[in-house]
Amino acid sequence: MSGTDEAKTADFTIALDLDGVVWRGRRVIPGSAEAVLALREAGLRVGFVSNNSTAPIGAVVDRLRRAGVEAEPSEVITSAQAAAAQMRSVLPEGAAVLVVGETGISEALADVGLSPVASHSGRRVAGVIAGLDTAFDYAALDAALQAIWSGARFIATNTDPTLPVEDGARPGSGAIVSAIATASGVDPHVAGKPHPPIARLVRTRLGETGVVVGDRPDTDGALAETLGWPFALVLSGVTADARQSGADIVADDLRGLVPALLGAAGRAVSADPGR
Ligand SMILES: [Mg+2]
Repeated sequence: MSGTDEAKTADFTIALDLDGVVWRGRRVIPGSAEAVLALREAGLRVGFVSNNSTAPIGAVVDRLRRAGVEAEPSEVITSAQAAAAQMRSVLPEGAAVLVVGETGISEALADVGLSPVASHSGRRVAGVIAGLDTAFDYAALDAALQAIWSGARFIATNTDPTLPVEDGARPGSGAIVSAIATASGVDPHVAGKPHPPIARLVRTRLGETGVVVGDRPDTDGALAETLGWPFALVLSGVTADARQSGADIVADDLRGLVPALLGAAGRAVSADPGR
């Protein structure tokens, strides 16, 4: 690749899912740090787009660093941020929002000027955001139900049924969101992958052209479709069979995808006379 092309490929984004791509549960997937480095050295922009809403952005950046990947906070996009942005678009500054979830959601709400409220506070709220919450219980379900019946907006971070861990999977956000939807009879607006709120954050922060890399056709693959970008499937997460995945590129893991991603970026640059 010539020096000119390298400068131009900085406009091409590789949007990486985290769970199942960079790590699986607590285990780092071998070769992922080297793969990120290789993509960046070729002049591509790498971003991290996760439906996991639990951790604050600083904790995700720290975890990436421990996995051997340097990242700016602005390069990390979560479903918590997408849900908070969506909630802010319908509520006034300072409005109280019930959090059925963890600190990632509270931080994202505060960042957009809304007031996160815990389920035991008893405060009246204008919105409810539900996501993965490992302390979820009957009282939280009841608080969400009462708020929604009182007219609060209901937004879910994501509806992933499960969360991949080292030795299998645990219940995901979708199981909690379904409990609230079943009790209240109200379906949420969903903000995370593959829905438009997180796609808007990807376009705004990472760019207009790129490839989505992930382990789930129903979220990562569908996000690629929302963005109009190709989808690259890795088999290092929850999907073991590439058939019917709709993926444009498939590899065992991120390391195995690097040559094909560089090829896709090169073709995008040479196909666009405006660059
Ligand atoms: Mg994943």
